[in-house]
Amino acid sequence: MTTQAPEQEADSAAAKVLAILAMYEAATITQDTAAQAIATATFAGKAVASRWADAYISTLANVRPTGLIPDREELDRLADAAQTVLSEDAEATQERLERLARAEVLSSKQQALRAAIESAGFEFWQRIGAADCCEEICRPLDNEIQPVKRIFWAHPLCRCRLVPYGERTQQPEPVEATQSPLFTITRGVERTAS
Ligand SMILES: [Zn+2]
Ligand SMILES: [Zn+2]
Repeated sequence: MTTQAPEQEADSAAAKVLAILAMYEAATITQDTAAQAIATATFAGKAVASRWADAYISTLANVRPTGLIPDREELDRLADAAQTVLSEDAEATQERLERLARAEVLSSKQQALRAAIESAGFEFWQRIGAADCCEEICRPLDNEIQPVKRIFWAHPLCRCRLVPYGERTQQPEPVEATQSPLFTITRGVERTAS
């Protein structure tokens, strides 16, 4: 499976959201339908970003992917957010929805990276600043190292990422080339070896 990088996925999600907005503005769909569709498109982008992050750490640390997925409850939150934007000031709607979709996908990437690093048994994460992220906030935080449970802090649309740092507190089973990746997942963190 090829998974699109989260940055591209953020662009795709934003494009889908704008297409849904266009249908809504053309009165082809109701506001409720539009809000649900926007939430679904954004959630799909978050899921792809989470899978990407999971696979990235899995490759980097040579451990099985944990099967991280965003919580389904996020769908309701996203639908509410979309509903709010659609109900307010029509001039900024396009920009706000596009921003919502992008920011959500990018934050899923960061949250999933952190969770995958913890799940792989590392004690710390290290922040790697995106070259084109901001001078004001991200530059001074570049390379900071934090205990793995510390939530990654980022401003909306931040493209910085996290990598594992230091020793592992526990050694997860390494992936064997011949082993099929059988794992069952609930809420993203449990792993069942077969
Ligand atoms: Zn920044
Ligand atoms: Zn950043």
